[in-house]
Order: sequence, then structure tokens, then C-alpha cells
Amino acid sequence: MTNKQVNIETTCPYCGVGCGVDISVVSGDVSPVSGMKTHPANFGRLCVKGSALHDTLNHTDRLLHPTMNGQTTSWDNALNLIADKIRQVISTHGPEAVAFYGSGQLLTEDYYVANKLMKGFIGSANMDTNSRLCMASAVASYKRSIGSDTVPGCYKDLELADLLVITGSNAAWAHPILFQRMTAAKQARPDMKVVVIDPRKTATCDLADLHLAIKPGTDTTLFNALLNYLNQQDALDTNFIEHHCENFDEALESASAAANDFSELAAITDVNQQDLETFFGWFKDTERTVSFYSQGVNQSIDGTDKANSIINLHLATGRIGKPGACPFSITGQPNAMGGREVGGLANQLAAHMDFSPEDRDRVRRFWKAPSVAERPGLKAVDLFNEVKSGKIKFLWIMSTNPLVSMPDADDVKAAMKQCELVVVSDCMANTDTTAAAHVVLPASSWGEKNGTVTNSERRISRQRGFLPSPGDAKPDWWIITQVARRLGYEDEFPYEHPYEIFDDHARLSAYENEGQRDFDLSGLTGMSREQYDALSPVQWPVNAEYPNGRERFYDDGHFYTPDNKAKFIPVEAVRPPERDDTLLMNTGRVRDHWHTMTRTAKAPVLARHISEPYADFHPEDAMRLGVRNNRLVKLFNERGDIIVRARVRNDMAQRKGEVFVPMHWTSRYASKARMGALINKDNDPVSGQPALKMSDVTAERYDTEWEGFLLTAQDLGPLASEYWVYNVTDTGHMYEISGQGQPVDFIKSIRDQLGSDGWMMFSDPANRHYRLCLIEEDKLQAVLFIHKEYDFSSRQWLIDTFGKDELSFQDRRAILAGRPMGKQEDKGAIICSCFQVGENTINNAIAEGCNNAEALGEKLKCGTNCGSCVPELKSLIAKYQPEVAVE
Ligand code: SF4
Repeated sequence: MTNKQVNIETTCPYCGVGCGVDISVVSGDVSPVSGMKTHPANFGRLCVKGSALHDTLNHTDRLLHPTMNGQTTSWDNALNLIADKIRQVISTHGPEAVAFYGSGQLLTEDYYVANKLMKGFIGSANMDTNSRLCMASAVASYKRSIGSDTVPGCYKDLELADLLVITGSNAAWAHPILFQRMTAAKQARPDMKVVVIDPRKTATCDLADLHLAIKPGTDTTLFNALLNYLNQQDALDTNFIEHHCENFDEALESASAAANDFSELAAITDVNQQDLETFFGWFKDTERTVSFYSQGVNQSIDGTDKANSIINLHLATGRIGKPGACPFSITGQPNAMGGREVGGLANQLAAHMDFSPEDRDRVRRFWKAPSVAERPGLKAVDLFNEVKSGKIKFLWIMSTNPLVSMPDADDVKAAMKQCELVVVSDCMANTDTTAAAHVVLPASSWGEKNGTVTNSERRISRQRGFLPSPGDAKPDWWIITQVARRLGYEDEFPYEHPYEIFDDHARLSAYENEGQRDFDLSGLTGMSREQYDALSPVQWPVNAEYPNGRERFYDDGHFYTPDNKAKFIPVEAVRPPERDDTLLMNTGRVRDHWHTMTRTAKAPVLARHISEPYADFHPEDAMRLGVRNNRLVKLFNERGDIIVRARVRNDMAQRKGEVFVPMHWTSRYASKARMGALINKDNDPVSGQPALKMSDVTAERYDTEWEGFLLTAQDLGPLASEYWVYNVTDTGHMYEISGQGQPVDFIKSIRDQLGSDGWMMFSDPANRHYRLCLIEEDKLQAVLFIHKEYDFSSRQWLIDTFGKDELSFQDRRAILAGRPMGKQEDKGAIICSCFQVGENTINNAIAEGCNNAEALGEKLKCGTNCGSCVPELKSLIAKYQPEVAVE
């Protein structure tokens, strides 16, 4: 029998870089994935998350069948119930009582039918998406200024720039492949300058010639002051302003109020005056400047103004739409851009059209829709508020986990309890949100889905399925189409394959579009299924003028405003309030996890870089609060509390008075680490985007009486200890644990779960010291170590022992002794996930003379695959060999 190999080109489902991925399936088995060499986003590279995609394809935790109130049911029952309820709610309370909440994980085709159903046929615009949490401020600022939600540049511009200003983005961890492209560009042209503007010293600062550790909330003051400075220095492109822009004087007047001089600006921003002068000088003198910005800008109460203060600078200098010159907002999610194209946000209609009478009428005629929504719908925070108030009676959440990601997440949980019917379609069974739903629908996952996504440079790529969906799981577009048909719209939702939906979407973009709308896919209409399947990545628009797509917009000075001129937006710099003793909580991503971990938590290689939720503290705050490094800490405010591990940053990566907490951990993976529960509902008045990076919290040490870890052959779910964190390993499952009182109660709970026979135990109760293991048929089933204090020693030897088919006498002795017999290397925390190289191994190599990342790569291979760990390698070199110049 020959092993048939099938090769598929698809895209990574994680971040907005949108890397191409090569898949090879041999006799049904998926080989380790590799980067697609021809994809213009990544040219063959993948970061550590993308490289581990094949580890996430198992069906653990998958949702396999529709359920109603926890009971398995048929698709027919579930779909009929949903359609009946929507019909009843509309007839009793009107269409505004129905709401959908989607996700940047949906494919464009899924998004298109959901938006069409809601805004054209249900007749309300209450369809919002988790992209509201991600880039709504970037959308609003582009539309206010350049008249369209259009990223003006392309990834090449990041390489062509002579000055790259990275603001509010830890690209090294959040958009690693773009960061690698930036790094390679700087290596090739060392004169290229990189400025990082971020309150934290992140891995991205590794690339920076200048890091401005700005006081949070003072960015607008900084950019306004820069506009004022450029004017004073006569460094504006007056010709561009005069011929292609409006409102400059008003914007300059607002900007002139920012600060009187550098000294005052330094005091406001809390940045060294000399550094500010250097940055301003570089910006003035560098024609090829790209401003690259992300959630640090968007997730603020004035995110739209912040983004507009950046765009103002590019308009004032004419640096937009030129090679190496543009304001470039980067999206977080893989298809946030696709959602923006089809109208996934509540304040958009479809195909870059809004709710003007002309747009509504055009969309109504194209869709043959009975009732196109008359006005924008509710944005995410307001939407869930109205769920709580009882105005929304039917809520359908698609492919997202708002009980973790929304601000004041516990209030969202309470809101869902008020709703008459909550439907969740998801590929995962055990999310915080599926637990709160009445009806749960199994959706197909990455690897099974078929459609398109658009990345942050407007590049549309195919996401292709290569595996069958397990159980009854179905694509999202199919589920929505089935509901639409049950509502009586069989003719309007005739789709049997995503290529038909894409064609509808492309034709709508071209419909009565005489060049007024930049989003134009007329060149992609009428594709056969084969052509759609063979579609190569292409940047929109694709039309007669740009049949192969367009790299840059606005190089011709033509903007998509009514008079085709760009608008300067006068921005008032609002100064952040002075703080009392509370800490300002900032939130963000870690390197190896994605969103609420439903996919990345399945890959053991991704669990080892950072295995617990944490909070980063400045040493003086830690001292003041009695918080100790590597001990547990409680963060709390009036909305809730979380318990995480404290990291006291002696490298001064954390500003005083501020604390950083990662966003990923949910109730599935940790006892109490849903940081969304602490975040207030403040949001930007223009975009509605929540200020996820600015909440007041208080911190206090969380003392426990014992700490330990548990390795098991089976996943035990939540544990009976005050603190636990779950991770998958190569050989089983691991929990970090900590608790109050006597450990014997916890030990009993584990023995009750796994059976009380067959345990071997060493105990020293006076010191709260226990080591237990459960062996069945010569194989380890569980290992439980408990100590009075946190044990930092490596567990890797135990994880390896766990995988053995037969335990030796030595193995048994080693487990009870609590240490490996003979010499065994303790790798330490994993730094390089690709080659599983730990901190201790790296430190030893540094001590032996490796004094740059290349030398470490040569000796240990670390950093030589995806490169995501290179900034950390450099910081370890700097830490352990401070006298050696870091390359
Ligand atoms: S940078 Fe990494 S996570 Fe983002 S799309 Fe590329 S491989 Fe995926």
C-alpha cells in the first residue's frame, strides 16, 4: 500500500500577520507544519505558535454535538429552537431585542452570512464582535481622517522605513514574524532607527535604538507636541497639506496646547528630555517613517484620538502611501480585517458601507432584503449592558469567549443569566462562555474550515481545510445559513459552499461602485469553485485598475472623503489623573499563548515558556506591598479579584505604580486568573473600544501554607486547592498547586479522584513535606509533591519518567527521594520552545563563553528556528555577562 501524501497551503489562525502555512497529510496523519515560502507575509517563516499548530489538532475538549440545557440534541432540534426563538423575540419585542456577537476568528464567509442575516433580514444592527476589543479605535480614526477603514501601507514598508516608531505594541511577542522582518531589515541596514514607545520594557525593546517608557495615557500629548515641534521647525509638507488635506490649522491649534517646551513635555510624559529631543529630531529628519501601533494605542478611553494624533503627523509630513512611510495599525486577530470588510462591527453595514440612506438602499437591493437595519447597533460593552438590562432577549455568541475577554467579565456572566436564550457556537466544549449558554453548537475548527481571511496589510488568503470535522461539528457559515433558511430566507441564503458566499461578498463590494469605495473586489467576482480553491494571496482592492492588488493607498493624494481630501483631526490631549496608592493594571499577551488558550494550551511545547498566570511588579511597589518574587499575590478591586504569581522585575521593565497581567488564563486553566473580571467598562466615546490597559487595582500578598505540583495521566479538571494552574505536558498533565491548612485534605481529594490503592508516599507532616506517586502496572499514573514553600527545581525529569512504559527500581527511588538519581541536567524555564532549551542550559553556555545570540544558536540551536526567543537570549546575555557588548 502506498502512503498518499496531500499538500495543502493554508494560513495560520492566530495573529493578524496572517502567515502562510504548508500542511502535508500522509494517510490521514498531519506532519509538523512549515511556513509557506511563497506567502508574502512570512516567506517560509513561522513563529513558535504557528510552528506548533500540528500539536493542537487533537480532539481533546472539542465540542462534538449540539446541546440544549446540557443535553445532547440533533442539529434539527437546535436549529429549529433558535429560529423559533428569534421569530418570537422579533414579533414580541422587535428586532433590536436580538443580538449576535462574533469574532476575528470567524472566516470572512462566516462573518458575511452572519452580518447579512442580522442587518438585512432580522433588521437590527446588533451584531458586534470581539474585534471591538482589538482595533475599533484604529477603524474609527482611519475613517475620521482618510475617509475609509484602510491600512495605507504594506509589510514591505516596515522594512523600507528609515525610522520605525513602534507604539503600544510588543511586536516581538504579539506579531513575531513581522518583528523578525523588522529585525532582519535593521541588521541589513544598521542605520535604520527604531523607537519603541511603551510604558513597559518589552522584548520588542531589544530592537530599539531608543525606548520611551512613557507614562500611560500621555501618548496624545507626545504626538501633539511633535506636530507642534514639526511646525516650529518648518518641517511640514505644506504642499501636501494645501492640496490634499483639510483642517490643519484647527489640528495645530489643539496640538499647540500639549506642552510649552521639552522640559514640560518631559514632566508630563515622564520621559527623559534628551530622549524626547532625539526622537523629535529623528522624526523631523526622516522622510521614510512608519508609525506601527497596536493595542497600547487602541485599548484606551481616547484610543481614536491617539490614533488620529499619529495620522495627523503623517498627513502633516506627507508621509502616507509612500514606500517606507505610513501610519500602520496592526490588528490582533487573524481575520479582524475580514470582519471589517463585511461589516462585522455594529456601526458598519457591509463592504465598507455605512447606514446612510444611499448605502442602506444599495445593500437592500443587492441582498433583496426586507428590512436593512436603519441605524448602527450596540457596540460590545453596550450590547452586554442591554443583555443585562433585559432589552436583549436573544444572544448568539460565535467563536469567542466574552466571559473572559470582556471588561467586567463577571458582570457579563451575570448579564447572560438574564437573557431568555443564549446560543454559543464554538469548537471547544469547556469555555467559560459555553458553560453559561442554553444552546451550544459544535463548530468546525482550524484545519477543518474552508474560506478566506484578510491580514493586516489587506492581503486576502485562503484558509483551507485538510481534516474532517469530528462528531457533528459544522462550519459557522453552514450553521448560520441553516437558521436563515428556517426563518424563511431559503432563496436569499442558498449557499452550499463558501466560494458562493465569497462571490456574493465580492459582488457587493463592486455593486454600484464607481470608485467611491476603495474596498473593491470586482476582479475576484465570478470565480468557479476551482478558481476559489486555487486563489493566491492578494491585497485588495482587486479590480480593473489593480488586477493583482494594490500595495499602497493614498500615494496619489486621493482620499475617500466626500471632497477626496484627508481631514486633520484636532485632538485634545487629556492628561491621565494623578493616582493614589492603587496600581494601574496593564494587560497583554505572552509569547507562546493565544487569546483564551483554547488552542495553544493543547501544545506541550507552548506551555513551558510561561506556565502560570503572573503579575509583574516594580521592586519598590513590591516592597511597599510586601509582595515577594515568585510568591502568590492577590489583585483586586470592587469588581473582583484574581490570584496569580508575582514577578518582581529587577530589570526595571515595569514602571512604578503599574502592574502588568497577561490576558490568557481562564477558569479552565487556572483557579482564579480571569483578569477581565478586574477591568472597568470605560471605553472610547468614538469607537466604543474598552480601555483594557487601564484599570485600578490593589495588590496584597496571598499567603498559602503549602505549594507543590501534581503530574497525572488524566486531566482532572478543577482541583480542590485555593490555587491551581493546569498545563499539558508531553507525557500527561501537570498542575501547579498551593493551598491553606493541612495538605492531607488536598491529598485525600486527589486520592479519592484517582483511587486510593497503589500509592507510595514519603511524608514529613511537621514540615508539610509530602511526596506521593501512584503506580499501576509499572507505569506512573500520578506524582504529587507538596512543600512548605515553592519548589523551583525542574520537574522535567519527572515528566520524562512519567512517559516510561516500565518504571525501574531506580525510578521509584528517585521519585520518593524527590530528585533524579545520578547527574541529570535541570534545564530551567524553557526559553526556546522550538528546541526546548532552558534558562539554566543557556546560562551555562553563556558562562562558557557564548556572548551573542548567534553563538548560543550554534551551540544549543536556541533561536535558530522561529527566532521568537532571540530577544530573551540577548537579555540573558546582558544579565549574566553585563560587561560584554550585546550584538
Ligand atoms: S506571526 Fe506567528 S502567530 Fe502570527 S500568523 Fe505568523 S505564525 Fe501565526
